[in-house]
Amino acid sequence: MTVYSLVYVSRAADDAAVETLMPQIEAILATSRRNNSACGVTGALLVTEGRFVQVLEGERDAVQATYERILHDSRHAEVDILSSQYSDRRRFKEWSMAFVGDSPALRQRFADAPLAALGRRQTGDAVLDFMLDVARSPAETY
Ligand code: FAD
Repeated sequence: MTVYSLVYVSRAADDAAVETLMPQIEAILATSRRNNSACGVTGALLVTEGRFVQVLEGERDAVQATYERILHDSRHAEVDILSSQYSDRRRFKEWSMAFVGDSPALRQRFADAPLAALGRRQTGDAVLDFMLDVARSPAETY
């Protein structure tokens, strides 16, 4: 089975703390979980310090159509693709859209492996593995 995955980073339009953004994030997650379940897209959404990082995986057409909608969403801007690749398995198969919120522990992880490092175009696998590792942290994901 071939799975297409895409990871992007963007800047939240509302440059507020995650707690303030939560109603907006809850709305995004509800829509994502409904739409992604219907078209077989899985992934994770990470929010920290005014930025979104999202991985989308599934059939290429489904991922591309989802990304096209997301790209034009006014709730964020400066959308920048970090990785797009094919692989032989889904990494996020448990989640139609896992949410990884902001927390002191997450911020510490970004101090160790910051978004700037993701932005320096690590290999696609490294970005996906990083996202999966963060998504699997039970204290930070739902
Ligand atoms: P609708 O049912 O038409 O809308 C869903 C809700 O979102 C409604 O309450 C609507 O008012 C609100 N909404 C829609 N667009 C905006 C907007 N521009 N500004 C404010 N409120 C708005 N969608 C997915 O399907 N899968 C994803 O994985 C996904 N991830 C996202 C990640 C991020 C960081 C962002 C910002 C958006 C994401 N979205 C995702 C949402 C996507 O951009 C579209 O809004 C959505 O896919 C539209 O689907 P719909 O027509 O079924 O939604």
